[in-house]
Amino acid sequence: MDHKALIEAALDARRRSYSPYSGYRVGAAILCGDGTIVTGTNIENASYGATVCAERCAVFSAVASGKRDFSAIAIVGGSGSENDRTDDYAFPCGICRQVLREFADPASFLVIVAKSPDDHREYTLQQLLPESFGPDNLSEKENNDENQAV
Ligand SMILES: [Zn+2]
Repeated sequence: MDHKALIEAALDARRRSYSPYSGYRVGAAILCGDGTIVTGTNIENASYGATVCAERCAVFSAVASGKRDFSAIAIVGGSGSENDRTDDYAFPCGICRQVLREFADPASFLVIVAKSPDDHREYTLQQLLPESFGPDNLSEKENNDENQAV
């Protein structure tokens, strides 16, 4: 999977952003271990705290469809009206970094922030969320295997 296809999927998802309050439209596309791509977009709410980011939208949608093995996520976001590029790199917020940490290997999972398919930067989750807290920190998880099967 080349990054361009993943970024194109994120740009496509960004077109469906529901962001009437901020005007900041974000699209995300997560690459699953089986090669499929699941997308998400930011969905705002008049009760601002109910808003969800594009990255979490994508992760939750993927998990809801039975996928928990992820290798990369592409993110595009910005206030501009163009559909094929953005003016800035949109980095995931702290909450989304933590949600990614729940399912991704920090050392190998790639976070790709892009302005366009030809203009992107990439980081490991470890770089964006160093010294993180994750499922392996909770011993209870090992005793709760029935919740881990897909
Ligand atoms: Zn976020």
